[in-house]
Amino acid sequence: MLAAMCCAPVGDEQRGEDPTVLALNERVAELLGQEEALFLPSGTMCNQIAFLVHCRPGDEIIVAANAHVFGSEGAGASALAGAQFRPIATADGLFTGADAAAAIRAPRNRSPRSRVISVEQTANRGGGSVWPAAQLAEVAEVARAHGLAAHMDGARLPNAAVASGTSMADHARHYDSAWIDLSKGLGCPVGGVLAGSKAFIEEAWYWKHRLGGAMRQAGFLAAAGLYALDHNYERLAEDHDNARLFARLVVGAGGVGIFPAEVSTNILFLDLTNCVLDANAVAARLREHGIRLGVESPTRMRVVTHLDASAAQIETAARQLVRILEHP
Ligand SMILES: *Cc1c(COP(=O)(O)O)cnc(C)c1O
Repeated sequence: MLAAMCCAPVGDEQRGEDPTVLALNERVAELLGQEEALFLPSGTMCNQIAFLVHCRPGDEIIVAANAHVFGSEGAGASALAGAQFRPIATADGLFTGADAAAAIRAPRNRSPRSRVISVEQTANRGGGSVWPAAQLAEVAEVARAHGLAAHMDGARLPNAAVASGTSMADHARHYDSAWIDLSKGLGCPVGGVLAGSKAFIEEAWYWKHRLGGAMRQAGFLAAAGLYALDHNYERLAEDHDNARLFARLVVGAGGVGIFPAEVSTNILFLDLTNCVLDANAVAARLREHGIRLGVESPTRMRVVTHLDASAAQIETAARQLVRILEHP
């Protein structure tokens, strides 16, 4: 990847003159079944720009209550676009077209205006669960029927497509805006690519400038994205296998539970409710062995597998965790 970055042809990205960025944008637009795309410094900026384009102040975004846009982006949609969220309670981060339809407000002059339905593929805090493509199409259809925009936070859309044996376009083509993160499972240093119609991307360019996301010789970074799509995409299946391996090795040890019961992608959660140690204690003990797991709450830890953790390392980490849980 570094070699590909070093010899990338570059130009002024702000002027649309960086050939490597243009190639990445074109590639991602096609992969997502969209007209055009826009390279941005982060996935967070992809979400925020999409909401800025879709919403006016006071508008409402329908979303799963455990979504990243709701809980992990510094209240950006409220602070920047002036929109508020209408959260739907879910365990796995997925909701149906009927759930979305029920959350759309009837037009009244004192009600917020429902403006966007936002989905997250895969659902991060839903345990990396995968929205079936048909369910995504159904939710997008509900949005369209009510005159709302449909947005997809596709931070792990590549994982979802690989896990379900479908194309990313099968998931994203029904959406008015959708993006992928280059710096998660694909393993790039930075970046996300936001896709949509020609008119949507034209408007997104305006916000990209305003937020300071317009760049110059960004082709060095875009080259990492092109490399990742060529070399790090199919191998996401290994991360999913490794997450399942980890779950299999630790389930039940010292009373630990696994969520979801069937791990489908690269994310799983540990439930320590029935364990002697709490999450902070477990994390501290693991750190002594150079292993880092996320602490979500005193009884919940998050495990994410990725291309820098081999199957052998995953097995070592799992066996160490079992030792700690069984001998607190
Ligand atoms: C990581 C993540 C983001 C934000 O992406 P960054 O590139 O870290 O800004 C948004 N949504 C989800 C679901 C994520 O996991």
